[in-house]
Formats: sequence, structure tokens, C-alpha cells
Amino acid sequence: MYNITRTLRVALLSCLVCVLMVADLQAQWLRGEQELMGTRVSVELWSPQQASGQQLMDAVFAEVQRLDLMMNPWNADSELSRINREAAATTVTTTPEIIEVIERALYYSRLSDGAFDISFASVGQHYNYRKGTAPGQAVLERDRGNIDFRAIRIEVATRGISFARPGLQIDLGGIAKGYAVDRGIDILQRAGIQAAVVSAGGDSRILGDMGDRPRTVGIRHPRKEGEYAVMMPLADTAISTSGDYERFFEVDGVRFHHILDPGTGRSASEVQSASVLAPRAIDSDALSTTIFVLGVERGLALINSLPGVDAIIIDGEGKLHYSADLLLSTTP
Ligand code: ADP
Ligand code: MG
Repeated sequence: MYNITRTLRVALLSCLVCVLMVADLQAQWLRGEQELMGTRVSVELWSPQQASGQQLMDAVFAEVQRLDLMMNPWNADSELSRINREAAATTVTTTPEIIEVIERALYYSRLSDGAFDISFASVGQHYNYRKGTAPGQAVLERDRGNIDFRAIRIEVATRGISFARPGLQIDLGGIAKGYAVDRGIDILQRAGIQAAVVSAGGDSRILGDMGDRPRTVGIRHPRKEGEYAVMMPLADTAISTSGDYERFFEVDGVRFHHILDPGTGRSASEVQSASVLAPRAIDSDALSTTIFVLGVERGLALINSLPGVDAIIIDGEGKLHYSADLLLSTTP
């Protein structure tokens, strides 16, 4: 009797091991990328099964594409373009997603005293980085006054938006990619995925780790193509980098790039790169652009006032500066 039961138990146990092994063989890292939101969007996920993992990846790309169509300022058919056409004349009822992103953008505008301002586009619309053209002094003077986040009014309950200034234009390029990355991670988390990375250009969010170790993430060297300035082990965080090397042209040694100082309407020129770590990518994205404009001293002061947020800034001379918590964690 004892022997039979024991044999049975051994048999059952080995069956179970077999099933677990088959399940484990199907588990794997899946990777995919698509050109969306004017940049490369990539998804990596640790999936228990290939078929459902592929479906989830498709769902993430579909969501990013939906947000891209909604928030693209260069597509005349987008919801954002409709707002830019109509909001100075009337209150536009818009999507919950746009209201959520603008509400967060205005929060960072207040926090940074206007260094982050989605109405930078009132002047930003006159730059063309592909053609290498910038607005002249007359246009700059005419439109600079239209950069004013206080003139953007939103009514959250009714999803209304209006501009208190004719000529004011908005662009969500400094925050929308982070938002899209968060939405992608939400989809994966709700489906039970425990390890993944979703990236859109310089904005990434890491869910979990690599199984037995953190993921190593590099911050690009702002002046040496293909090299990294910093490598860091990261798990369960978002990280965004804003750099003056992403989209730029030079005239007489002056670099015109895509991050504008709302105070001048010209490219912010104090630092070469600003990276921010935060739990959510909407925050790391907005803050990396914000501290790029604020510069080392004011940028780090802002980051040090925010719990759970860290930063690494590479200044104009290529020197590295860390926020207080990172300094503590790197000091033996
Ligand atoms: P990237 O788009 O290269 O990932 P960022 O996250 O730093 O880099 O965003 C830069 C984008 O932010 C610009 O292309 C523009 O759309 C927008 N932007 C530029 N200056 C400002 C600003 N002062 N406040 C808010 N958004 C800005
Ligand atoms: Mg940003």
C-alpha cells in the first residue's frame, strides 16, 4: 500500500514538474518597436505565453497610436489642432486624456514658475528644425507675450478648455510621450505582466526587473555619438532624458534646439542634458524638460523638493550633477 502511494506521488510530482517546465519554456522576453509620436516607440515584456504577449504588445502600440492621433500638433485633423484653432474663441469640450495631460502640465508650470509651459508653442511653431529655420526678432517680439500658461483655462468636470489670449498655441511634446508610456505600462500591468519596459524616444518606464537583476540603463553622452555618460541599474521606475542633441541646427556656432526657454522664446542653453527618475513617466517627462530650462542650480533645488524624484544633469561643460538622494546612495 505504502509503495503504491509513494509511486503514485512520485509520478504525480514528475508530471507537475513537466507541466511547469513546458510553461516555463513558453515564457520569454518579447520585443517590438514602431515609429510613433515622432520617435521610436519600443515595448519589451516578459510574457508567460507568446500568443497573449504578442496581443498585449499590439494593444500597447494601438494605444500609443491613438494618443498620437489625438495629440499631434502637426496633424490638422488631431484633437489638439482643433483646440489650437478654436479655444481662443470658445470653450472647447475635449477628451479626458487631453484634460488629464494639460492639468498635469499646468501643475508643473506653477511649480517651475513657467519654465515648463505648453504654450511655448506660440513661438515654437515658428521653428523648423528639419529646414533649419528660426523666427526672426520681429516675430519673436510679437508672439513671445502669448507664451503664458495662466491664460490656459481648463474645467475638469466638463472637460472644457479655453485660451484667454488670441494667438496662444499649445504643444504637448514635453509631456505626451511620458503619458503614453504610462498608458502602455497600465495595459500590461492590468493583464498581469510583471516585467516590461515601454519607451518613447527619451522617455522610458521599467516595470519589475530582469528576473534576477536590475536592468542597466544608460544616459547618452550629449556630445559623443553612440557613447554613454552614465550607466545605472534600475527597476520599477520611469526615466526621461531631455537633450539639446535630439533636434537641432546650428547657425554661426549657436545651437537652435527643441527645448525653449519660455522667458526668451529661444533655446535654453545652460545644460546639455537633463534626466529625471520618477515613479510615473508623465512626471519624469515633464520634469526633464522643466529642469533642462531651469539649469543646474534651480533645477536641482526643484528636484530635491520633490519626494521620490531624482535627477542627473550634464551641464554646459559636460560636468555631471546629481540630486541629493542620488548623491547619498552613491556615497559609501
Ligand atoms: P524629447 O521630445 O526629445 O523626448 P523632451 O521631453 O525634453 O524631449 O521634450 C522636448 C519637447 O518639449 C519639444 O519638442 C517641445 O515639443 C516641448 N517643449 C519645448 N520647450 C518646452 C517648454 N519650455 N515647456 C514645455 N514643453 C516644451
Ligand atoms: Mg520631457
